[in-house]
Amino acid sequence: MKQMEEKILREGQVLPGDILKVGSFLNQNIDTEFLGQMAQEFSRLFADSGVTKVLTIEASGIAIAAAVGMEMGVPVLFAKKHRTSNVDGNTYSAKVHSFTHNEDYNVVVSSSYLTKDDHVLLVDDFLANGQALHGLMDLCDQAGAEVVGVAIAIEKCFTGAGDKLREQGLHIESLAMIESMTDSEIVFRS
Ligand code: 5GP
Repeated sequence: MKQMEEKILREGQVLPGDILKVGSFLNQNIDTEFLGQMAQEFSRLFADSGVTKVLTIEASGIAIAAAVGMEMGVPVLFAKKHRTSNVDGNTYSAKVHSFTHNEDYNVVVSSSYLTKDDHVLLVDDFLANGQALHGLMDLCDQAGAEVVGVAIAIEKCFTGAGDKLREQGLHIESLAMIESMTDSEIVFRS
C-alpha cells in the first residue's frame, strides 16, 4: 500500500534496536481517515477468505482490528496481556516474548469468545520476529478455530519471520514491507 510507505517515510522514526516509531499516525495519535483506508485495503485483500472474526493483542493492535472488523462486518476479539500464567480454566493462554520490551508475557482470551466455528483473521500493527503471531495462533489452536489470514500494517522483512510463515502456507498481507532501515534510510520490498 503506497500510502503506508509514504506515511512511514514522512512520519516514521527509526530508533536504536530496530524499532520503528509510528506514534504520530498509528500507535498513539491515530490518523482515523488513514485507519479507514487501511481497513478497506485489508477487507479487499481478505474478501474471499471467509473471515468470521478478527483477533489481535492489546494494546496497539486494537484500533486496527476494530476498523477491520467494522469494515468486514465481523466481531473483534483482543487477547489480554498478563504478566503471570495464573489464569482460570475458562481461558486459553499462550506465552509470548515481547520484541519491544524484551520480556515474556501471557496472552489470554476467554474460551467463550473463541470457538471451533471461528474463521479467524489475525491483525497486528507490526510483524517482527513473529512471536505475537505465534501466540495468537496458539490460542486459535487451543480453541480449534481456523486461522484464515494475517493482516499486518508494517512487516519488518529483514527478520525473515513473515516469509517463513508464508512458506508454511499462511496467507499474510502486510501494507508496508521493510527490507532494511537505518535512521537515514528505509528501504521497502518492491
Ligand atoms: P513480534 O512478536 O513479531 O516479534 O513483534 C510484534 C509486536 O511487537 C507487535 O505487536 C508490536 O506491537 C511490537 N513491535 C515489533 N516491532 C516494532 C516496531 O518496530 N515498532 C513498534 N512500535 N512496535 C513494534
